Amino acid sequence: MAFVCLKDDKIIYSFHYVLKDWIALKEDKHSSFKMSCCNTPAILKTSKLGTQFFSHKAKPTDTDCSSGGETAEHMHIKYLVSKTLFECGWDVQVERRGVSSKGEEWIADIYATKGKIKIAIEVQWSPQAFIETKRRQQVYKDSGVRGLWLLRSGSIKDRNAITGDYLYKTKDVPVFSVYKNKKEPSSPYKVFNVNQEDTEEGLIYDRFEPIALDLEDFISRMMSSQIKFYAKYSRSTELFLKIIKQKCWACKRSMNSVAEVVYRNTNYGVPYEDRRYSGHITDCDSETIHVINNNLAQAYGFAPLKSMYSKTMGGSFMSNSCPHCGVLMGNFFTEQAFIEARYHNRVIQTDSINISRTPVIVHGKEIEADFERGEWVLLNALPKKSQITVNTDNHNAGT
Ligand SMILES: [Zn+2]
Ligand SMILES: [Zn+2]
Repeated sequence: MAFVCLKDDKIIYSFHYVLKDWIALKEDKHSSFKMSCCNTPAILKTSKLGTQFFSHKAKPTDTDCSSGGETAEHMHIKYLVSKTLFECGWDVQVERRGVSSKGEEWIADIYATKGKIKIAIEVQWSPQAFIETKRRQQVYKDSGVRGLWLLRSGSIKDRNAITGDYLYKTKDVPVFSVYKNKKEPSSPYKVFNVNQEDTEEGLIYDRFEPIALDLEDFISRMMSSQIKFYAKYSRSTELFLKIIKQKCWACKRSMNSVAEVVYRNTNYGVPYEDRRYSGHITDCDSETIHVINNNLAQAYGFAPLKSMYSKTMGGSFMSNSCPHCGVLMGNFFTEQAFIEARYHNRVIQTDSINISRTPVIVHGKEIEADFERGEWVLLNALPKKSQITVNTDNHNAGT
């Protein structure tokens, strides 16, 4: 079973032909069709599933000609992927060989190029361990090729093959699961591991719901960047200040104080004010204080924050001070002034500055944020009726 053959010594691909033209090609008695593998006569065939392919007219003697015992369904999926890529304007080759910069050889099920972009799509029929997929992905990366994996899922119970180690979802290893309900032969192949935003709920956490897309639809959306990877945690966080005007208790001149430090983090790309960190300047580490002083003090007219001795408190604390006469502005008074300023709507919000991400808190515990992990998301949500329910048991595990 091959998708490629030599027609009068020129390479042709079966997936370039719509059915009508494919039939016409079968009726073409003037051209010669030869297998590209061994140059022996080829015949044109159409499988029950609709795969258009070339086959040896006589049983091949050369063992290199065997198709490796791939199932009709496996070939059909490869055929559909190739056809869709071709229809989306990609230059498609099948079983293309290459070598990485480190000398590792590869054969891509489907290899496609468009301009400078090179992709390989692997339809993985037999189970493959995640670390092996990761390794093979690296070989493609070392060859300047972006790999994409479609793992077969065999049973109705586990339509989504993204389980176990595959739940470690990163942008580097795009893995999806393909499934077909054999009890409904006319049903399309479905691709899993794509989410869409549940816009009705308006949630920040858990705002995605898993969906399944038809194989051809998935390929065309993936290739036109309509499916995007969202890392759960951003590498940086935005910080801004809430500033209030006060009268210095000593020199009676008007001055600004930092009343609150607010962090704006993102959750799968959506910014939100993270109340778990927002707070008083006394809660900031010295590095953050340094960034605040360098970036915002002059622009917003407050004295650089520094640790000062408070007689009332009997110790040294990170404090505001008067930019005119230098006296300490007690935190208690600043807090009182902040309440009043909020009431009168007189709080000034500074511009945001970027700082490296603060630790992430899950269920009250600080955890090391994994900036690689995330989810694949369809950018334009499908209409409600076309959504289907999928097995979500593993979906949010380990987050
Ligand atoms: Zn052959
Ligand atoms: Zn003063």
